[in-house]
Amino acid sequence: MESYYVRRTCPSCGSSSYLRNDSVEPKFDASVNYDLAKEKFIGFSEENIFFTYVRCECGFLYAKNYFSLEELINLYGSMPDNVHSGDYESERRTKIHYLNFINRHIPSGAKIIEIGADNGAFAEEIMNQRSDVEFTFVEPNLDMHKILKKYSKNKIYTDLSDIPKVSYNAYDFVIGVHVFDHIVNISEVIKNIFNLLNNNGKLFGVVHDESSILASILGKRWPAFCLQHPQLYNHRSLNNFLSKNDFKQVFIQPTKNFFPFFYLLGHAARVILKKKNDLKGGWQIPLNLGNFCFLYEKD
Ligand SMILES: [Zn+2]
Repeated sequence: MESYYVRRTCPSCGSSSYLRNDSVEPKFDASVNYDLAKEKFIGFSEENIFFTYVRCECGFLYAKNYFSLEELINLYGSMPDNVHSGDYESERRTKIHYLNFINRHIPSGAKIIEIGADNGAFAEEIMNQRSDVEFTFVEPNLDMHKILKKYSKNKIYTDLSDIPKVSYNAYDFVIGVHVFDHIVNISEVIKNIFNLLNNNGKLFGVVHDESSILASILGKRWPAFCLQHPQLYNHRSLNNFLSKNDFKQVFIQPTKNFFPFFYLLGHAARVILKKKNDLKGGWQIPLNLGNFCFLYEKD
């Protein structure tokens, strides 16, 4: 296998044996189509290409072959700047919806780490309601750091492992919205989060649900089966994984995403009538896309 790939074992239990009849196979497997994989990764291909997902005997779904860390850095570096195509009000409504799940669980004066803080939109929403909390951001995209500085005086890190060990047991809350399906060395990262949290510290995340109805209807065309996701979770596999790492469940709940009505109409017209359009705006409609959020407490 070429050097831009690595072989992985199950991030949850370490095993390399998997169930032979429960894999998700793309039309083109990325581990044998490097050039196409690169085009797809940076957004210049519409082909159905990702790394075959296998299901470990423990139930965890992960890509057995994946990009090496060096190659991932190279690929993220070749990506054109993030174009925020989303609707501002919809993103805001979705974030308030997430906050409603956790607000009462965030202790007063909480020290919070947000991993993959992006442009700070979720932190801003939290601070609108909670002026007592303080953020430390982890964000690999350096372009976002100057924006994030608006929300916190604390040092901004590009990687969680850069937070010094003297900060172990110093944080009350860790947040990661749509980040835990992206992290290759997820097992290390969860252990690190455990160390950074204090005794009653909590971990909140939002991820895709690979056992959702949408995923089973769309099969290999489900958008979350993609090159950017080295693993995907369902309620049970996530719970097994976090329990093994000494976290105990507070809740797992399905989440909704908000979209403007005319955007949805335009999207339907593109899919059904194959007609291009630029419809947007309208009432905010909550949709269940088979995502879920979870809150765990250090055990
Ligand atoms: Zn496993």
